Amino acid sequence: MRQLYIGGSWAASVSGEAIEVVNPATEEIIDRVPAGVPDDVEAAVAAARRSFPDWSGAAPEERAKLLTAAAELLTQRAGDVARAIATDMGSPLGFALKVQTLMPAGVLASYARMAESHPRESQVGNSLVVKEPVGVVAAITPWNYPLHQIVCKVAPALAAGCTVVLKPSEVAPLAAYALADIFHEVGLPAGVFNLLSGRGPVVGEAMAAHPEVDMVSFTGSTTAGRRVASLAAETVKRVALELGGKSANLILPDADLRAAVKAGVANCFVNAGQTCSAWTRMIVHVDQYDEAVQMAVEAARKYTVGDPFDEATRIGPLVSAAQRDRVVRYINRGQEEGARLVAGGTERPLPRGFYVEPTVFAGVEPGMTIAQEEIFGPVLSIIPYTSEEQAVRIADGTRYGLSGAVWAGTRERAIEVARRLRTGQVAINGGAFNPHAPFGGFKQSGVGRELGEPGIEEYFEVKSLQL
Ligand code: NAD
Repeated sequence: MRQLYIGGSWAASVSGEAIEVVNPATEEIIDRVPAGVPDDVEAAVAAARRSFPDWSGAAPEERAKLLTAAAELLTQRAGDVARAIATDMGSPLGFALKVQTLMPAGVLASYARMAESHPRESQVGNSLVVKEPVGVVAAITPWNYPLHQIVCKVAPALAAGCTVVLKPSEVAPLAAYALADIFHEVGLPAGVFNLLSGRGPVVGEAMAAHPEVDMVSFTGSTTAGRRVASLAAETVKRVALELGGKSANLILPDADLRAAVKAGVANCFVNAGQTCSAWTRMIVHVDQYDEAVQMAVEAARKYTVGDPFDEATRIGPLVSAAQRDRVVRYINRGQEEGARLVAGGTERPLPRGFYVEPTVFAGVEPGMTIAQEEIFGPVLSIIPYTSEEQAVRIADGTRYGLSGAVWAGTRERAIEVARRLRTGQVAINGGAFNPHAPFGGFKQSGVGRELGEPGIEEYFEVKSLQL
C-alpha cells in the first residue's frame, strides 16, 4: 500500500485502512492508497503551517528555481506519468501524454516563471499596496484530469508563497503520487507540499473545516462544492470552486456546419465525455437540424471504443462502474422523456471494462433532464432553435456557465453572440483551448478563476500601507 506524504516524508495513515485503485479497462485492482482520517489531516495541516513562514519569506527566485526543476522532471517522466493516468482513469495513452501530462507540465513551468515575474506591489496615491500569500491552502481535486487539476491549484499556490495540503481523487490518485515524488526529489522544503489520500466526506470535509487552513480550492461536482463552501464558511476561509458544466455549442445558420458539428462531437466525446467544459448540448437552427443530426451520427460512428493502450482507441472506458452506471441511467432517462436515440445507447460495447458507446440524442427539448444535468459521459444532445434570441436563451438556460462555443459566418458575428453568453469560456469558430487563459465558471459552475495571471491572484491577500 502507498503512504501519505506529510512534512517531507512518507508515513502510513493513522487508519491503517486502504482504498483500492481499479483499472477501468480491465476492472482489476492495480494499487492501494491509504484511507486517510481527520488525524492525518491534523498532521498535514500542522506541517504546512510550520513551513509557511520560511516558504512565504523565501526569495521569489528560490521558489521559481524549485518549481522550474519540478516542471523539468515532470516533462522527463511524462511517459511514465501518462501511463499511470491511462491505467487508473482510462484516457487513451496519446491523450494522457499530450493533454493530461505535458499540458500540466507547461502550466507548472509558467507558474514557475510567474513566481518571479508576477507584480506584487503597486502605488495608489499615498498607499503602497502589497500582495502576500494567503497562507495554508487545502486543495481537493477530481479524477477526470487528475494531474491538470492538481497543477492548476498547487502550482500558483506554491508560486505565490503558500503551502499546500492536497487531497486528490481517491478514484485516480496515481498522478498525485508521481508529483509528490517529483517535489521531493527536486528538494522542495519539508511541509511545503503535503499529500493526503482518502474519501471526500472524511478527509476533504476535515480539510475544508480546519481552522488552520486559510483557503480551500476545490474542483469537482457542484454538490460536493456546495458542501465544501458551507464547511469553510464556519471559519470564513477563502473558497475557490471549479464545478460542473453543461456547455452549449451554438451554431448560427451562416456557420460552416460540417466543421462546427465535427468539432462539437469531438469536444463532447473527448476523455470519454468526462470533461467539465465539454460542449454537451449542440444548438442548431431548425432548418439545418436534420442535416446536423446526420453529420453528428456519422462522426460518432468514427469514435472507436477500446483499450486506452491501443493506438486506434478514441474513447476509453469511463473511470468506474459507478460512473458507467450513472451515464447509462441518463441514457435511459433521455429515452423515457421522449428524446430520440440516434447513435450509441446502453449496450455494453466490450465484455470487460466500464465502457459506454458514444451516444447522440436528437429531438431534445431544453428542459429535458439530459439537456439540464451534467452526465459526464460520451452523450451529446442536439437541440433545435428558430431564432438567435431563442438560441442564446437555450444556451444560457441551465444552472451552469462554464464553457461553450459559437460558430458563425464571421469571427466578429461569433464574438458578438459570445459576449451575450453567461459562461466563463467561449470558443470562437473552433478556437483552441488555451491553458494560459483564465478558466472558471459563471453561476453554479464555480467561484474564482484558475490558470493565467488570475490563477495566481487567487492565492494572495492584499495589504495597503498608507505612507
Ligand atoms: P466529486 O465532487 O465527487 O469529487 C471531487 C473531489 O472532492 C474528490 O477528491 C472527492 O474525494 C472530494 N469530495 C467528494 N465529496 C466531498 C465532500 N463532501 N467534502 C469534501 N470533498 C469531497 O467529483 P468527481 O466525481 O471526482 O469529478 C467529477 C466532477 O468534477 C464533475 O461534476 C465535473 O464537472 C467536475 N469538474 C469540474 C472542473 C472545473 O474546472 N470546473 C474540472 C473537472 C471536473
